[in-house]
Amino acid sequence: MSPERQRLLIVGGSYAACETAAHARENGYGEDILIVSEEPELPYDRPPLSKAYLKNPNEKLSPLRTAAFYSANRIDLELGTRVVSLEAGTNKAMLSNGENVAFDILALAVGAQARRLTCVGADLRNVHYLRSVADARLMRAVTAEAENVVVIGAGFIGLEVASMLVQQQKQVTVIEATDRVLARVVAPEMSQFFSSAHRDRGVKLLTSRTVQSLEGENGVVRRVVLEDGTGIDADVVVVGVGSVPNLELAQQLGVHCANGIVVDARSRSNQANVFAAGDCAAYRSPFNPAGIRLESVQNATEQARVAGAAIAGVDTSYDALPWFWSDQYDLKLQIAGLPSGATERVLRPGSGADPSVFYFRDDACICVESVNRPRDHIAARRLLPRRKISKQDLQDVDFDLLSLLKR
Ligand SMILES: Cc1cc2nc3c(=O)[nH]c(=O)nc-3n(C[C@H](O)[C@H](O)[C@H](O)COP(=O)(O)OP(=O)(O)OC[C@H]3O[C@@H](n4cnc5c(N)ncnc54)[C@H](O)[C@@H]3O)c2cc1C
Repeated sequence: MSPERQRLLIVGGSYAACETAAHARENGYGEDILIVSEEPELPYDRPPLSKAYLKNPNEKLSPLRTAAFYSANRIDLELGTRVVSLEAGTNKAMLSNGENVAFDILALAVGAQARRLTCVGADLRNVHYLRSVADARLMRAVTAEAENVVVIGAGFIGLEVASMLVQQQKQVTVIEATDRVLARVVAPEMSQFFSSAHRDRGVKLLTSRTVQSLEGENGVVRRVVLEDGTGIDADVVVVGVGSVPNLELAQQLGVHCANGIVVDARSRSNQANVFAAGDCAAYRSPFNPAGIRLESVQNATEQARVAGAAIAGVDTSYDALPWFWSDQYDLKLQIAGLPSGATERVLRPGSGADPSVFYFRDDACICVESVNRPRDHIAARRLLPRRKISKQDLQDVDFDLLSLLKR
């Protein structure tokens, strides 16, 4: 690898990296493209790690693009290699394999890492986090032997892991510091629905409880101790308490960072040749006026496509509606839009078994959460940008939202 060549250097090995490269090429970027990723695998589909991959030892990773795609598009991959540092002013990256790489344009697609526990005992063995396929393989192996699993944090990842493990006849306890599950991401009605779903299937769910320490024997975790002194037996602890964006490289360059690398609608940072996309980036848009750092496949993919186009000199802007999903048992939760700034919530009548919650800001519907209602979700993704859903439409449980597209 010549250190002198002109190139687009992409740091990271997931959706944002892959899509930035693919779309730079597709839009006519003709220089070298190099992706450096610390993970040894080809960029792969991450959501199954807390779902099917955790349950089934025969489950295969799904690569986002084939090896042939990268070579056909002259996208070089340096896998299993970390960008250790970036030197401000010189446009040079230092890699963990000892090489230096020069670049004209840099795309940071470094994602986020699992937030770590800091309490006493957090460094005991069998305390696990889930971010990469390496984490998932390890978790699958240790939980296979375990009887008692304690999950700390009732967010998407914690609850997905709990649902997988309780179906494998493990004794699963979930501890959540706030007063409801999924508190950061769904309405109280939806939290209630998922709490019941987990309790009905045998998960012991403790809300408004915090972990004081972890206790072990011979360096391996054995008990989780709560602030009120309660002790819970644990062969394995799974921690799902959110994530922290990887900002170190951006900060070395002096790129503006807040709760993520701050980018504009072209995914460009405050330094003209530095782009960022995905979990590491923060961006305000009409659908995300608060500039919340989004962690989703949709966001990483679509924001990176805009970065790739901008790198190739094609002017597009990122203003897509955010959407998310989570699979727990046979329940598919889908969310279209973001609820921030909502003034009212409307529960679709008759939807107790499989609820849908509609958020309105004054008369405009801005977010829809639904369970096992793919038609509502698809309709919401198409209708929210057009502001077409009204409260009156929701009065009739049989009303087909998709019909509004014709209105
Ligand atoms: C277990 C799990 C389940 C999920 N389920 C869902 C879901 O159901 N639906 C949904 O929408 N989203 C889900 N997500 C979130 C989704 O996977 C992320 O939003 C998405 O992966 C973000 O992509 P990204 O490219 O921005 O970053 P990431 O996927 O975080 O990838 C960043 C990559 O950069 C690499 N990297 C970091 N620093 C360096 C460096 N210095 N040098 C080289 N490489 C580096 C990392 O190793 C990693 O490969 C899930 C996430 C996890 C972890």
